[in-house]
Amino acid sequence: MTESSSPKPVLTVEGLRRTYGESVAVDGLSFRVNPGEILGLVGPNGAGKTTTLRSIAGILPIQEGRITVAGLDIDIEGHRARQHLAWVPDDPQPFDSLTVEEHLELVAGLYGTTDWKRRREDLLESFSLKDKRRALGGELSRGMRQKLALASAWLSEPKLVLLDEPLSGLDPRGIRTARQAIQDIAASGVAVILSSHLLELVEQLASRLLIIDYGKKTFEGTLEEAHTGFEIPMGSSLEDVFFAATRHEAGDKPG
Ligand code: ATP
Repeated sequence: MTESSSPKPVLTVEGLRRTYGESVAVDGLSFRVNPGEILGLVGPNGAGKTTTLRSIAGILPIQEGRITVAGLDIDIEGHRARQHLAWVPDDPQPFDSLTVEEHLELVAGLYGTTDWKRRREDLLESFSLKDKRRALGGELSRGMRQKLALASAWLSEPKLVLLDEPLSGLDPRGIRTARQAIQDIAASGVAVILSSHLLELVEQLASRLLIIDYGKKTFEGTLEEAHTGFEIPMGSSLEDVFFAATRHEAGDKPG
């Protein structure tokens, strides 16, 4: 592919470094995500996945490095950049005193969603939230909060979706719906980062992988490239790749 025909990345992360006091959570991380791509972000507990996602979402101020979303620098044009992204945290906390449909109306207003009433109805239907439309945020179960966060993200018509353990708490029907919804939104050209410890899910959905450990990238590429890179048999699972690409024992910190 020539340079001129390469897709313009929706997200660029260059040299991202984040510390909490003395502790380094993300250490010089660089990667890109193109339109329509699902990037599987995996790594052990404490590897820096959530810190990376929170930095991209503009929740954590950038200490070092540069992030652009749809060509906009998150540190300089944060407000405009955030209009293009949707962030689904692993334990979403809706407003206690707004109903499900009021949350969706709020999101539609904030993001200027067109034809939002019809889209809201479709999302309430597909995420099985129709009978909870008048329930308050504070009354929702964990799985329902997750579904509301996914529906809100979809309603905002983003160019980039950040998903942190999006299936945790969902029932089997919710899992099937969310899995299909992730595939569909990517097929429509939206860039997706899927961070999860559910390696089978990541293997199934992700077009490319980013494996991090101790805040550093240990692998970026397709599963097939990982087989070659780590010299493990072709056809090995992402779980095999994960163990090859990350520390072998907890606390076995390098350097
Ligand atoms: P997990 O898979 O367990 O969710 P993760 O890959 O998402 O982990 P992060 O939550 O980004 O990892 O944490 C990376 C490192 O930063 C860890 O060592 C963690 O203890 C530390 N850390 C994260 N948030 C804070 C905070 N608010 N204050 C201090 N240290 C933090």
